[in-house]
Amino acid sequence: MYKHILFATDLTDETEYVIEKVRTLRGYTNATLSMIHVVEPLPGYSYAYLGIEDIEGQLIEEAKQAMEKLGTTLKVEKTNQFVEVGPTKTKILQVAEEKNIDLIICGSHGRHGLSLLLGSTANAILHGAKCDVLTVRLPEEK
Ligand code: AMP
Repeated sequence: MYKHILFATDLTDETEYVIEKVRTLRGYTNATLSMIHVVEPLPGYSYAYLGIEDIEGQLIEEAKQAMEKLGTTLKVEKTNQFVEVGPTKTKILQVAEEKNIDLIICGSHGRHGLSLLLGSTANAILHGAKCDVLTVRLPEEK
């Protein structure tokens, strides 16, 4: 069965639904659980435009805090919590290979995605991963 699961999270509220599936699957498999959140680098001009000096730094810090909270909920070691900066799909696939992940779990679409369509991150993970991928279909908004 699976030995090392990677949960790719966009750290939004929709994650709640996916969290339950991650918890259950981890329970069945007894696998090591890692989590990843990727912060996309902002273009240089956005700093001047928004008038905030280190937006990226702030986003990384916020992501680390949210990851820590999620890590407590899911009982994930700090050393298995990854906050990466770069292109989301590339980073997820890179960490999956580096850590010998055998199952990636992600939502079928993120906060802004259309519920019936597979989001671009989910789609890229499915196409690029060398391991199994579980895309959790999020419930449709009422
Ligand atoms: P998307 O395809 O972007 O609509 O998102 C689908 C799923 O990909 C989300 O439910 C997350 O599981 C994962 N995902 C999206 N963005 C990120 C991110 N920045 N870091 C890690 N995982 C992400």
